[in-house]
Amino acid sequence: MKINILPLLRGEKDVIPFSYTDTLNGYAEDIQSGAMAVSGKVKNFSGYMLLEGEVDMHFTAVCGRCSKSTEHTLKAAFSRPVAQRLNEEDDDYIIAEENGDVDIAEAVSEAVYMEMPVRFLCKEDCKGLCPMCGTDLNDSSCSCVEKKEDPRLNKLRELLKDLEENEQE
Ligand SMILES: [Zn+2]
Ligand SMILES: [Zn+2]
Repeated sequence: MKINILPLLRGEKDVIPFSYTDTLNGYAEDIQSGAMAVSGKVKNFSGYMLLEGEVDMHFTAVCGRCSKSTEHTLKAAFSRPVAQRLNEEDDDYIIAEENGDVDIAEAVSEAVYMEMPVRFLCKEDCKGLCPMCGTDLNDSSCSCVEKKEDPRLNKLRELLKDLEENEQE
């Protein structure tokens, strides 16, 4: 997305507001559908220009534990200085093109990635699916856990219990 700040560079305006919507495609594998609303402004502080904005995201994503599809909202914010040319090495600056265009795509996607969790959960304490039988443990339980127990582990478990008890003393 490019914002044209020519009126700002010419001194005709002090603020250039902008807003647009975009898809969230490609931001995370688990996102099924959704959109983001981006809004902000480029402001001129007597020669020093600053890009500031917010991203509102609404989307559905599959739960990382139980695969249920749930709705999510996330907010992100970005702020970057804007210059017409780069005097020193400073990656943080966004450089305006000759015609006054400022490409804010990178600033927006950086802010979005910053807020994206590694995985989405349908709820904080989602119990997930049983890895053995696939039962959704949020709705019901299964008997796989008991079956899974290995008698060889019992000795180790007893040992750990002893250790814990000793620590508490
Ligand atoms: Zn879940
Ligand atoms: Zn099970």
